[in-house]
Amino acid sequence: RGAVRFENVMFGYDAGMPILKGIDLDVPAGTTCAVVGPSGAGKSTLARLMYRFYDVSGGRITIDGQDIAKVTQPSLRAAIGIVPQDTVLFNDTIGYNIAYGRADADQRAIEQAARGAAIAGFIERQPDGYATRVGERGLKLSGGEKQRVAIARTLLKDPPILILDEATSALDSRTEAEIMETLEAIERGRTTIVIAHRLSTIVNADQIVVLEAGQVVERGTHAALLAQG
Ligand code: ADP
Ligand code: ADP
Repeated sequence: RGAVRFENVMFGYDAGMPILKGIDLDVPAGTTCAVVGPSGAGKSTLARLMYRFYDVSGGRITIDGQDIAKVTQPSLRAAIGIVPQDTVLFNDTIGYNIAYGRADADQRAIEQAARGAAIAGFIERQPDGYATRVGERGLKLSGGEKQRVAIARTLLKDPPILILDEATSALDSRTEAEIMETLEAIERGRTTIVIAHRLSTIVNADQIVVLEAGQVVERGTHAALLAQG
């Protein structure tokens, strides 16, 4: 479950200004595809189209063969989890931030997600049912901790598809390495699209697609692309 395909996808924010110029991607269910390229290549735009922040202007995107233009917004959102580069949190408890938008989430599921994201220490049972480390609020967290909240949010949702949009780029290298371990664990069994600037930073991708100026200029395995230089 969770196979993603782009078929000749075209998109521009403004008429007459194409940003994506015929993108083909085939990401089998449960595999990881890295989309690599310089700033402005269109990587984030590609991610936004998957979530339907914008609609394609040509071609189509499918999940398990179904055109996402025909999928309801709630079921599309349930299918895809996004960890962005900079997670913006509410100045509220960690538990509130993990469960945001999920009024139905129970305490045990929130705690389990926090454990999966290695922030269980931040949570403790409260009489009002909300999980929180006393006095700890989203705005006080470090960059790495914020990313862990974003990961916990995704774990609570448990989507078949993950989009990691430069999810560790804003972190120092030690924190980055720690978060990468957690990310690799949550990628297992999910279709994952990793967005990155540099080929050298990619680990564990089944395929890599190089995007430049809105077009795929190369694709292959990590080893094959590195060998080419
Ligand atoms: P990348 O993620 O590879 O850095 P983006 O997808 O962010 O690239 O941007 C691709 C191009 O689209 C850039 O030229 C950028 O200026 C333009 N762009 C991005 N977002 C918008 C927007 N909301 N409105 C208009 N142009 C945009
Ligand atoms: P920088 O970190 O220098 O800005 P990138 O934009 O290339 O460089 O960063 C992309 C991020 O994606 C890197 O921090 C890298 O650790 C991370 N990354 C690489 N491979 C994976 C993967 N399989 N899963 C999750 N994140 C990954």
